[in-house]
Parts: sequence; C-alpha cells; structure tokens
Amino acid sequence: MNFLLDLLFPKRCVGCKKLDTYFCKDCISNILQTDLVCPKCEKLAVGGQTHPICKRKFGLDGLWSLGIYQGSLREAIKQLKYGRVSGLVETLVDILVEYWVKYQPFVLDQISKDKGVGWTIIPVPLHWWRGNDRGFNQSSLIGQILSKKIGLAYCDGLKRTRYTKSQVKLKGFGRHQNIKDAFEISPDYTLNPVPYTLLIDDVWTTGSTLRECAYVLKRNGAKKVWALTLAR
Ligand SMILES: [Zn+2]
Ligand SMILES: [Zn+2]
Repeated sequence: MNFLLDLLFPKRCVGCKKLDTYFCKDCISNILQTDLVCPKCEKLAVGGQTHPICKRKFGLDGLWSLGIYQGSLREAIKQLKYGRVSGLVETLVDILVEYWVKYQPFVLDQISKDKGVGWTIIPVPLHWWRGNDRGFNQSSLIGQILSKKIGLAYCDGLKRTRYTKSQVKLKGFGRHQNIKDAFEISPDYTLNPVPYTLLIDDVWTTGSTLRECAYVLKRNGAKKVWALTLAR
C-alpha cells in the first residue's frame, strides 16, 4: 500500500518540489525566523517570555515559534492536513529541535534545568477546519514525535467540548466568544495533573485557541504553560 502511495504521490520537497525529500536543505534554510513575542500583547519579548506586566494567573507564560508562516514552511503546514505525512512531520520536528539547539530558547533552558521532570507535551485538540472526518490531528502527531525526540512525557490532556465555527471570518472579540469554553480537561490529565506544559499547535494566528487552552490547563492545576508552534 505504501508502495502504491509512493508511486501516486512521490516524496517531493514542499518548497521547490524536488524529488526524494520532504523538505530540502535550501528550502529549510529559507525558513524565516520570527521575532519572539509576548503571547499576551504580541510585542517583542526576550526569549518569548510573557512580559511581567502582561502576566495573568491563567495566561500563557511564553510563546516560541519556529518560523514565519510563509513560503515553504506555510506549504509544509498546509500539507500536514492530508494526514499521510508522518515523514514530513518528522522532518519538521527535526528542524525545530535543531533550531532549539542553535538558538537555546528560554523555554528549553527551563526544561533542561528541570531535566524535563514535570514537563508534559499536550497538543491542541483537533482543529475546527478539519471537522472530525479525517480524525487526524497534526498537533498531536507533532507532539508525539517531539516527545520521543526530546524525552518529555506526552498526554492528550485536552479535549473539545464542541466544534467551533470557522475562525476565519471572525474578528477579535468574536473569535474569543467563539472559542470560549470549547475545551475541557480530558480524563487522562485529571488522573495525572502536570505542573509544566508545552502546549503544541501548528500555527499561532491570533492566539485565541492557545490562550483558551492555557486557561483550561491552569484552571486545572498547571503551574506553567508555554505555547510552541511551527509558525506564526
Ligand atoms: Zn526544496
Ligand atoms: Zn506583553
């Protein structure tokens, strides 16, 4: 079956379509790094840490994204929705870890200091635009692969209580209303509450989804929640 799929959909670079690679070296080097910003006010912040004045009891503690949502990174993320892409996810996670090692983000410092103890990777549950027909959650796959590579625990700690409307046409407050109460803690999490969370999503757009997830986690005992996305 895989052989047939490979014939039908040969492995090609998401950027330049070159064969036999999911993401070629040139296209990887074209990923533009984002400026690190505070997840509350989205202004520049050292290491992506939430500014002290922006700190909220149930808010995110920081945000780190691999690159800007454009070009080959944008193509790669779009392709994740087809599901048949574990190789591509693997490549993206490799790039992410490589950037981490290179730029030593603040969140990685914290994780290393704690030796990973108490840190758990939790994905944002399935996105609205996927419906649930495919049942494929790219954030969950990113989280699982990352957890294996860096040795942190993984948990499907959140679930959706309802499917929200498309966020695309909604603005500011409308988006917030739409996403409010869309998540709850899953039984897995309640059994084993985790103090520090690395919350995974593919793209940071307005941040309303990730902020809402952080709120639910913190209301349920999380001490620290960092958002990690492939793009912003
Ligand atoms: Zn390429
Ligand atoms: Zn701020």
